[in-house]
Amino acid sequence: MIKFIPLGGADDIGASCYYLNISGTGILIDCGIHPRKTGLDSIPDFSLLDFEPLDAVLISHAHQDHVGALPFLIKKFPHVKIYTTPQTKEILNLTLHNAVSIIGKQLDSESGIKPYTHGEVSFLIQSIQDYSYDENFIIKGLLHDGERGISVIFKDAGHILGSASIFIESEGHKIFFTGDINLSPQAIMSGAEFPKIEIDTLITETTYGSTESTTLPSWEDESKRLAKFINDITISGGSVLIPVFSLGKMQEILTVISNMMYKGKLIRAEIYTAGLGKKISHIYDLHKYKVKRNMPDFEIKSIPQKPILFPHFYSEIKRSPGIVLASSGMLLKNTVSFELANYWVRQNNYGIAVVGYMDPETPGYRVSNLTQGDEITMLDSTIINKALVKKFDFTSHSKREEIVLLGSKLKARNIVLVHGEESSRDWIGHELLKQSKKVKLYSPVVGSAIILE
Ligand SMILES: [Zn+2]
Ligand SMILES: [Zn+2]
Repeated sequence: MIKFIPLGGADDIGASCYYLNISGTGILIDCGIHPRKTGLDSIPDFSLLDFEPLDAVLISHAHQDHVGALPFLIKKFPHVKIYTTPQTKEILNLTLHNAVSIIGKQLDSESGIKPYTHGEVSFLIQSIQDYSYDENFIIKGLLHDGERGISVIFKDAGHILGSASIFIESEGHKIFFTGDINLSPQAIMSGAEFPKIEIDTLITETTYGSTESTTLPSWEDESKRLAKFINDITISGGSVLIPVFSLGKMQEILTVISNMMYKGKLIRAEIYTAGLGKKISHIYDLHKYKVKRNMPDFEIKSIPQKPILFPHFYSEIKRSPGIVLASSGMLLKNTVSFELANYWVRQNNYGIAVVGYMDPETPGYRVSNLTQGDEITMLDSTIINKALVKKFDFTSHSKREEIVLLGSKLKARNIVLVHGEESSRDWIGHELLKQSKKVKLYSPVVGSAIILE
């Protein structure tokens, strides 16, 4: 018997965390934090595991909404083993240590949870066992009631460096968990792999379920559109701000910019990057031959990048226009990109290129919908926006049609829809039912169990 309980990230993007009880072995898939919530609200509901066994955690990839709550989990369940790809382990060693001081500042005595320390993160990293793509490993919990253990394989999910979909097999029941998956190529990543066999249960993300694919252009077309936007701004003496996640989007967009400059479609300008993203780019370079990529020989460090050094930075870009990539991707308060956006909206002919998903309750969402002359409140003052803002679609997730096609290719008889808003899950579920009337479809909610047969 297989029991599935979402602890977070079912009808929402954030705090992804799913529990599987397979023949008495307890497995958690991902353990994320919600990007714009704080305290207990931001982490998965671990109390749902009070009466369940927990033996192992499988991690799909290192984005915070999939791993950010791991240090809190380990405090409560120090015995669990964590499994990741080698790339994810290396990125976590960087990003979880980086989060120590950020989380420490966010949590106060009323938050309901205690911050974690560098020592606890080091312990967590040491307890990770890493397996490369397509390598088989076995998990067998203390209370496992089958002869053989559970077989697990990470498959390349094509989303960011080290991202994995997870294939799980127990007693003949085959499960495929997509994680965040991109079946199409980006600038660096070259597209996901999936098993070429029939499976029993598909657990899939539905991020773009409510986005019409006609509005999702190819990376090639978007690269040209971005180059034109940047050229128009820099020719008139302005600079362009591109808010990016430091993991994934920073490396992909840098590569887009470099490719466009190389092809002569983008006028050369200084490129500025900040902080953590640069260290993650280094990990991308280190693993260039270890994972499938579009241009294996290409190194991000070959792109000249200047650091953002306040307070001289603003006079520097006044003298010579720049292209500035800074995190956070959703312009969360107290981040470099928020501080820059606060300056940008006050400058004539400066540009903001929105290249990723913006949660509707973040400052990034408000900025992404601005036109010149609109009022916006940044920090405490309300001002008239002078910057040009343009949206681009450089998605690192599959289009909704690709998810439906994956479902029918794998011929799954159970399909569990997660990691998407209600309307997204509705569209994909409806299309999947058109393909096969026999499929059992689940749109689970946090905290309620479903039984998969
Ligand atoms: Zn992700
Ligand atoms: Zn995600």
